[in-house]
Amino acid sequence: MPDYPSPLKIPRVDDARCQACRKCPARKACKTKAIVAIDPGEPPFIDGNLCYGCLVCIPACPHEAIVT
Ligand code: SF4
Ligand code: SF4
Repeated sequence: MPDYPSPLKIPRVDDARCQACRKCPARKACKTKAIVAIDPGEPPFIDGNLCYGCLVCIPACPHEAIVT
């Protein structure tokens, strides 16, 4: 069994709002590195296996691109 609380509120990146910032403050704010950017020109995504639902990333994104 996973040792994190359940149910989790795992947010997602809204690609339509995301500006694919070179330095994503939301990624920086995430303690578990659950926000993953593979291609610098593309929006990051949230790895549901690493995210523990703290939602700190939501106010950290200046474009309101992280939503629940
Ligand atoms: S999630 Fe927000 S801060 Fe991160 S790249 Fe997208 S718009 Fe920028
Ligand atoms: S909710 Fe918390 S753990 Fe999940 S991606 Fe956002 S900052 Fe990271």
